[in-house]
Amino acid sequence: MSGDSVKESVSLEVLRQKMKDFAQERGWEPHHTPRNLLLALVGEMGELSEIFQWKGEVERGLPNWKEEEKVHLGEELSDVLLYLIQLSDSCGIDLSQVALRKLHLNALKYPVNK
Ligand SMILES: [Mg+2]
Repeated sequence: MSGDSVKESVSLEVLRQKMKDFAQERGWEPHHTPRNLLLALVGEMGELSEIFQWKGEVERGLPNWKEEEKVHLGEELSDVLLYLIQLSDSCGIDLSQVALRKLHLNALKYPVNK
């Protein structure tokens, strides 16, 4: 999707800070309460779901999708990620750390069968 452009490395912390700056510059922070952000996240999940609605099952990698559909999908995935990061931040949760911990807990719960 990004053509030949060099991919920039990004972390959840970089995205969190960029979103914080974005909201601060616009005076939106007072509205970014946990409940408001959760509802915004759910709304974006709906927008993401609409893209797949009525398509039936789709192949991994979406080989039969138009480029514009993939661009739209990327935008909605980003909306979901960015609201999730903001929601975590508004709750004082370090999403990177709790996600790593949850992966560890999942590995304990579902050990590899050899
Ligand atoms: Mg959206």
